[in-house]
Amino acid sequence: MATKYIFFTGGVVSSVGKGVTAAAVGRLLKERGFKVAVQKLDPYINVDPGTMSPYQHGEVYVLDDGAETDLDLGHYERFVDINLNKVCNTTTGQVYAEVISKERRGDYLGGTIQVIPHITNEIKRRIAMVGKTMEAEIVLVEVGGTVGDIESLPFLEALRQLRSDIGRENTLYIHVTWLPYIGATSEMKTKPTQHSVRELRSIGISPDMIVARADEPFEESLREKIALFCDVDKKAVIPMVTTPVLYEVPLLLEREKVAEYILKRFGLEERIKPDWTKWQELVDETKRPKESVKIALVGKYVELHDAYMSVREALKHAALHLGVELDLKWVHSAELEKGREWDLVNECDGILVPGGFGSRGIEGKIQAIHHARVEKIPYLGLCLGMQLMVVDFAREVLKTDNVNSTEFDRSTSHPVIDLMLEQKEIINLGGTMRLGLYPCHLQPGTKAGDAYAKELVFERHRHRFEFNNSYREILAEHGMRYSGISPDGQLVEIAELEDHPFMLGTQFHPEFLSRPTRPHPLFVAFVKAACEKAGIVTKQL
Ligand code: GLN
Repeated sequence: MATKYIFFTGGVVSSVGKGVTAAAVGRLLKERGFKVAVQKLDPYINVDPGTMSPYQHGEVYVLDDGAETDLDLGHYERFVDINLNKVCNTTTGQVYAEVISKERRGDYLGGTIQVIPHITNEIKRRIAMVGKTMEAEIVLVEVGGTVGDIESLPFLEALRQLRSDIGRENTLYIHVTWLPYIGATSEMKTKPTQHSVRELRSIGISPDMIVARADEPFEESLREKIALFCDVDKKAVIPMVTTPVLYEVPLLLEREKVAEYILKRFGLEERIKPDWTKWQELVDETKRPKESVKIALVGKYVELHDAYMSVREALKHAALHLGVELDLKWVHSAELEKGREWDLVNECDGILVPGGFGSRGIEGKIQAIHHARVEKIPYLGLCLGMQLMVVDFAREVLKTDNVNSTEFDRSTSHPVIDLMLEQKEIINLGGTMRLGLYPCHLQPGTKAGDAYAKELVFERHRHRFEFNNSYREILAEHGMRYSGISPDGQLVEIAELEDHPFMLGTQFHPEFLSRPTRPHPLFVAFVKAACEKAGIVTKQL
């Protein structure tokens, strides 16, 4: 069968859940036996979000192949339960970089390079690559931003062209909008939706389906009104009522028969009956009142929860699996340095320090880690959180505070976290980070070994610095165990402490591989230890 394409555009305002909708639709189709892939087209000019501030962009999501991508790819992977590829995130920056480098090479034989057709062709080439590299039968493509943004115009033009390039029977356009609620007259308004559809039409795209997000359920008459004014089938106007349970979205869309409509439009039959039992259990479990376990997330972008999206989701998955409610306390590491927010830390049964870059708030994080170690509070350190756990422990063992990662103090007497020799050479050439999937050998009989119950795992990385092997022996003598190491024995991937209920740090980012129905074993082990500390009885889903 020819690859089918579903394009998602956004109207009215941003942040209405376009990414989650695309991810959920992907799940609906996967449940019916189709091989799907999801791509995000980001209209910004950065080549990737790797260098963008988490304040601007939220978390940088890392794929198996090391691509640094938009956080929506995290939704796609978690909902559809697939591993995506770097072609699944394309930005304006990448498109222009490619076209300009071809132009410099003379590939265009002296032609004038224009948005149409050169930029749009490059966009279409990148869309086509998704189907090929992921061997997908149905490719879902989400365009970032909202219709009407100048930046997204070339992307929308490319999508418009695709309808005639590959045929109406192989393309479907879904427009995700927002119905504002006017309190004074207590009614929901469709006018902004009508306007955004008109805007979309003016660039030549007529949506086949409208997903109308609203905070309240709306009446049938409103659905009819949208269908009439926006010229779509009534059945193709899909109400999406805000739910506090993210993972309920596929079930909501299932109820509205979204997949039936899409498959019919494509002339496809479902191959297997969708089975939502596990998913429904997950949603029911989320809604069931449960005992709460308090976990402190100590970071420096805590004002913006999106900056730690995957960490929060991984904690939620683990808590759900154990039948407890996650009560996450967001603690600012720079505040800890000033002696503030310690009350939040003190009331928690587990402390987590996530990944991060740069020196702001570092000592605050180390103080939180020190507190976890001395007070025997379960601790999970992710990447930077592992590195700082090593710093804290080494300060104790070496009986001096002159211990650090060279990221924060180049002239420290004890660089327990440092660049590897080979990396020191590459740094001048630009390629500096260890990115993507790397193998990790687990030591049996350790906390990590027991949690994974495997010998070899692959985990995603995104960092420059590493554990300095010169300190392995001395720290081990005092109770540090290297429960995960690279198969060649050169890199410490997981460190943990003996004589502590649970104090473990990973050089990689386990949060990227946690899935709602398959929580990550290290997160489960950590949350379980926190529950034990709090005296909460857990169950295994
Ligand atoms: N800044 C640290 C490094 O580069 C940690 C990175 C991270 O936490 N992702 O190694």
